Amino acid sequence: MIGITSYGAYIPRLRLDRMAIFQNMGWFAPAIVMVAQGERSMCNWDEDALTMAVAASRDCLVGRDKAALDGLYLASTTLPFADRQNAGIAATALNLPSSILASDFTASQKAGTNALLVALESVKSGDRGNILVTAADKRETKPGYFYEMWFGDGAASLLVGSEDVIAEYKGSHSVSYDFVPHYRGSEKQYDYMWEERWTRDEGYAKIIPEAVNGLLDKLGLTIADVDRLVYPCFFKAEHKNIARKLEADPEKVMDNMHAECGETGVAHPLLMLARALEEARPGDRIVVAGFGQGCSALYFVVTDAIEKLAPRTGVSGSLANKETTDNYAKWLKFRELIDPEMGIRAEAPTQTAMTTLWRKRDMILGLVGGKCRECETPQFPKMDICVNPDCGAHHSQDDYEFADVPARVKTFTGDLLAVSVDPPHKYGMIQFAGGGRMMADFTDCAFDDLKVGLPMQMVFRKRVADKDRGFVNYFWKAVPVPGAAAEMDKIRYDGRVAVITGAGAGLGRAYALELGARGAQLVVNDLGGARDGSGDGSAAPADEVVREIEDLGGRAVANYDNVATAEGGANIIKCALDTFGRVDIVINNAGILRDKSFLKMEPENWQAVMDVHLNGAYNVTRPAFAVMKENGFGRIVMTTSAAGLYGNFGQTNYSAAKMALVGLMNTLKLEGKKYNIKVNTIAPLAASRLTEDIMPPDIFAKAKPEFVVPMVAYLCSDECTESGAIFNAGMGYFNRAAILTGAGAQIGDAENPPSVEDIEANWNAINAIAGTKELADVNAAFMDLITPAPAEPAKEEAAPALDGPDIQAIFDNLSGTFKADAAAGVDVVFQFSISGKGGGEWHCVIQDQTCTIAKGSHAKPTCTLKMAAADFGDMMTGKLPAMQAYTSGKLIIEGDVLKSQLIEKLFSI
Ligand code: NAD
Repeated sequence: MIGITSYGAYIPRLRLDRMAIFQNMGWFAPAIVMVAQGERSMCNWDEDALTMAVAASRDCLVGRDKAALDGLYLASTTLPFADRQNAGIAATALNLPSSILASDFTASQKAGTNALLVALESVKSGDRGNILVTAADKRETKPGYFYEMWFGDGAASLLVGSEDVIAEYKGSHSVSYDFVPHYRGSEKQYDYMWEERWTRDEGYAKIIPEAVNGLLDKLGLTIADVDRLVYPCFFKAEHKNIARKLEADPEKVMDNMHAECGETGVAHPLLMLARALEEARPGDRIVVAGFGQGCSALYFVVTDAIEKLAPRTGVSGSLANKETTDNYAKWLKFRELIDPEMGIRAEAPTQTAMTTLWRKRDMILGLVGGKCRECETPQFPKMDICVNPDCGAHHSQDDYEFADVPARVKTFTGDLLAVSVDPPHKYGMIQFAGGGRMMADFTDCAFDDLKVGLPMQMVFRKRVADKDRGFVNYFWKAVPVPGAAAEMDKIRYDGRVAVITGAGAGLGRAYALELGARGAQLVVNDLGGARDGSGDGSAAPADEVVREIEDLGGRAVANYDNVATAEGGANIIKCALDTFGRVDIVINNAGILRDKSFLKMEPENWQAVMDVHLNGAYNVTRPAFAVMKENGFGRIVMTTSAAGLYGNFGQTNYSAAKMALVGLMNTLKLEGKKYNIKVNTIAPLAASRLTEDIMPPDIFAKAKPEFVVPMVAYLCSDECTESGAIFNAGMGYFNRAAILTGAGAQIGDAENPPSVEDIEANWNAINAIAGTKELADVNAAFMDLITPAPAEPAKEEAAPALDGPDIQAIFDNLSGTFKADAAAGVDVVFQFSISGKGGGEWHCVIQDQTCTIAKGSHAKPTCTLKMAAADFGDMMTGKLPAMQAYTSGKLIIEGDVLKSQLIEKLFSI
């Protein structure tokens, strides 16, 4: 069987909001507003067709043996070299064997489908075994033009072979015409476009249907035998019209991706095909057609092997990894459509010595270092002596490819003095997993995105362009792994062992899933009994939750012991120690109900509830506390209830037990303080079998346990410093409940006891709730009692959890510093984008000598000032001069930089 064996895609991370094109060029070309919806993909300044082709090919080669390749066909009309084989550069970057046939396909929009066709026919003929076909384009247009809106940058790669075929090739049909909707003369930068109506009516509308119908006739099929129809056409109406002409079900036609990235030239049919394969199921029949000086149409049938394909970024992953900009000037600079002064340093010689490039080609283009045969230490670059001081072996290095090795930032800097198209120039030391370090340029990130330890991946990019000689220099750079920074900021429980009682259902299960997903190792305890605690119990609930956690990649062990006995509690903790070697977190959650009004509350029902709730917490916490004390770390959560805190008819047993847990917490918080053991209590409200006949159905439907989870998870985290507090949590609402003590009254002279009548006479003062205080422990309560004057609150009010400046307060105060006199004739909007804790968006409108400051984004800011919260606080309190903030990269200004300087004139900061 011959066909496609793998696919890969690459769409640059940057996207240009099409409205930004209109906003900047609409005065000149108002008609472009018609296609100004969505966004187009946009190469970073260091990307071109070749770097994108390498990126898509790396995606395509995931899980495939590179050594088995014997062909690389690169298709593009925007190749960096007119006479140096571009496919050869890609092959060196990908470290493909030198025995391959590398070839460029160019000069027509159907070069991508033609390269695919030639590869398929070549494998079919038996000449070659595995050919990588890659197509990429970065097409230039003049600014303010329809095509600037329609085009996008991108690449796609397909591996063609005869083993593990995911889409079997069944046949093709080509038509060739010298139809010229546009052309680019050999010396020209831009395409020359002919009239669009003619291109649509005489080109797309006739030639694509002719090729597709020819293919179907040839294979004896009809359009009903096609499940996915893939053809590019950026004219929205014409794209649909072609389907109508072919009598194809519109549902089967692949979207042309205009809204998300625009048309990526030669790559587009292959990119759309990659997307179709990403969504395909075994048996799907796909027709792909590439248009340009005729049309080539190919027919594939998807096989079962598609389900075994290794995970990859693909089109969806590439589309999801994006940063949208509306900075049109940046777009112009990155495309070299404007030529701002780069400074004298940019004039340094950039000539490449071909001799060195040839000698070091594996190192420079392939990022190949060395690995010592003696001690297995990797190093970059490869050298004659092993870098390991304990080894130092000579001539012991084998080739070692670093391009796919994960890395982390070790040091980094943002350099505003170095020459950079996208200042500040970001670079630093990266540490590869398993060994090896290098100084690398960082790209596809803002300075604020960088931090020590940030996971990075290597990308093949342009380093410098030698414009005088028409040469482009490529090397490898590091980019943050998508989503890694957010992941680093997440509260995690890696290395922590959590015991959750009653975790087989309801709230306990939800806690277990969250902690498991965030790295905790779990003991999922559940007796599996009835709601009232009766019955022999069952292993099923705990087992099922363990399976769920393991399916999500977590680690958990089931335990079926009864918390109500001391032996059961000890076994639960033993299970944690035997399985994971420690206990860090205990959530006392197991619970039952035996509701009856007080006179009907027989001792048996009283005792059963006490045993599970109060004694259960004692039985489990006591052995855990010993381990936590030893480890100097512990997080314990008790579960109380509104019934205990405030009372509930028919629940004397439950209320008493639940309130007793508050008492247990109050003392345990004191005993655990020295050992970093924090004890808190949750009063949840959630839908579960305990509440199904109590809650009104509409509340039951909304009160998902997941709304309680974040609070409990936080109380279990290393980050939590609170201890001895009670929190209500349910349906996304959280507040603290506390036992408070009234201001009270000293009655009599404190020498002689007051009389009963004195109490009656002073009842209002004694009973008053005004002036209440929270008391930290019994000593504080005693002190309060013996101190006649209203005591100071014994427990210091916790300072607001701010570890940075109060940004809202800064903006609240800013309008008071506005100098109306200085604002005569000034009409500006400053947008502030403050990152980090307490940050957000604020804007400040100065008009008619008035100043309005509001939270949120303004639709048309004059300039946007971007800063981290701490730096902003320093700048606004005078600790950090504005100019220093700007030159050091702490303050990034987008839009009209000159106008931003008015801030210092308009406000007395
Ligand atoms: P649930 O019935 O869904 O979960 C309780 C779990 O505890 C059950 O899976 C049960 O098998 C297990 N369990 C019972 N006795 C046990 C024992 N002796 N040993 C080990 N496991 C045992 O109920 P839920 O609503 O998730 O309740 C969790 C906790 O929250 C309980 O302590 C409950 O009192 C408390 N609570 C719940 C709410 C609410 O609105 N759901 C309100 C206040 C308090």
